[in-house]
Amino acid sequence: MKLNSRCDRSEVAPFVDGALTASGSRNTADVVNPSNGQRNFVIPAGCLGDVDAAVSSARRAFESGGWSAAPPSLRKKILHCFADLIALESRAFDALDAEEMGKPISERFANAQAASELMGFYAEGLDKSVGDVYTCDKASFVAQRFVPRGVVAAIVPWNFPTYASVLKLAPALAAGNSVVLKPSELSTRSAIRLAEVGIEAGLPLGVLNVVPGLGEIVGRALALHSDVDMVTFTGSTEVGKLVLQFAGQSNMKLVMAECGGKSAHIVFDDGVNLQSVADNVATMLVTNQGQICSVGSRLVVQRSIESKLLEMILVRIDQIKVGDALDPNTTFGPLASAKQCSRVMEFIEGARSDGAKLVKGGRRLLEETGGYFIEPTVFGSVVPSSRLAQEEIFGPVLSVMSFDDEVEAIEIANGTQYGLAAYVWTCDLSRGMRMVKSLRSSVRVNTGVCTGEGAGYAASHEPARQSGIGCEGGLTGMESYLRRQRIWFSHA
Ligand code: NAD
Repeated sequence: MKLNSRCDRSEVAPFVDGALTASGSRNTADVVNPSNGQRNFVIPAGCLGDVDAAVSSARRAFESGGWSAAPPSLRKKILHCFADLIALESRAFDALDAEEMGKPISERFANAQAASELMGFYAEGLDKSVGDVYTCDKASFVAQRFVPRGVVAAIVPWNFPTYASVLKLAPALAAGNSVVLKPSELSTRSAIRLAEVGIEAGLPLGVLNVVPGLGEIVGRALALHSDVDMVTFTGSTEVGKLVLQFAGQSNMKLVMAECGGKSAHIVFDDGVNLQSVADNVATMLVTNQGQICSVGSRLVVQRSIESKLLEMILVRIDQIKVGDALDPNTTFGPLASAKQCSRVMEFIEGARSDGAKLVKGGRRLLEETGGYFIEPTVFGSVVPSSRLAQEEIFGPVLSVMSFDDEVEAIEIANGTQYGLAAYVWTCDLSRGMRMVKSLRSSVRVNTGVCTGEGAGYAASHEPARQSGIGCEGGLTGMESYLRRQRIWFSHA
């Protein structure tokens, strides 16, 4: 059965074959506005039938060749148009996300405008990947070409809903695949609106489908589905491991998994600009309420400058304006859900018994609003092996640890199961290089929050250890969505 209404303010249903369709599931899940704790609407819990319908639609669209075999110039035009339409509606996308998971609409980092630019990057880049022709003997012609993988299931988290969806959709579509997108149960509407906009831009029906619902139902069914060729996942390490198991239990589909982190700022006492360090550490900690995978949630600082730097960070943290995520003056909103809020509070309470010293924060804020606000919180004297220093909290909590020399700094920074990112602060070029070579993650030297354009959207990234598998971002990231087909011609 087709539904008439579009996914506007309250309609959430599977988007299959270019239209909203009724979910086969009678169960629902509440979507609550985290700024006030009020229930806004419900989404279907989802079911195997919803997933089958979306995968079949994606498969038909892929096999028809209307997108997978379309001329690059046509794909480019449609994805550019897709990018333009996202930009046109960027404020509406940001508002949907703010209302569902609390990202302040004032926050520009990874917002819908950035998602539009990212889509534009892949529109432009889709014909820039080249295959190889090999040197070979006289009677052979050996080459390799890129071909789309087929049906890609994209399972994404709630922390930057529009951006996280586009980070999967854009390279997957640019590569010629069909996609079934499964947004987080906390933040579904921007995903459905993205699919509608994609059809308006000219994507053939079935090339982009969305199945809302619970992770353990819809996400699991997608990862187990035998007609899905690849799962591209972003989320926790715990669920990433499950997705890998589901792929192994079914059809050995390729899994790309971008998972959790426990990234460190490592600050040396060698003349580095402490004000700049403090601004970066504090800004990152409060951006999206610390719910960023690569947030520098550990401050590993040389003992001689610890108290001075800490003081500067606390001053900077005090500049936040806490409030409703939809208020344009708010710079610090609520945690995304009641569950997320209790999880972060449990870490805070546990930290005290682990011997860490509370330096700032630690309490709920604006409780009278019913929202899930928690003060930015800083703990000093944190033991590197403690739970606070080891586990991903995914909230505005900073753990401070000090060191005496480079070797100790590296040991602390590398001393978790994760390998997502690290931020090194030094004036010594050789030390910066040594650190880059010793740290088991991506490394930024003398920068934390992205300022300026950097490499735009061109740089790719591959997580280490239990932060995930596979390359995302840039043109190399697009190649993750392409299979290398070897061609061997023997001729007379
Ligand atoms: P999550 O792992 O709980 O959920 C992620 C997605 O997986 C959601 O769509 C969810 O519905 C689905 N899911 C849940 N259970 C599932 C199951 N059993 N089978 C299949 N799918 C299932 O993560 P979250 O709470 O939505 O997001 C926060 C996490 O995401 C953090 O760990 C954060 O570090 C990570 N993250 C990583 C990156 C990165 O690039 N490395 C970026 C953003 C967020």
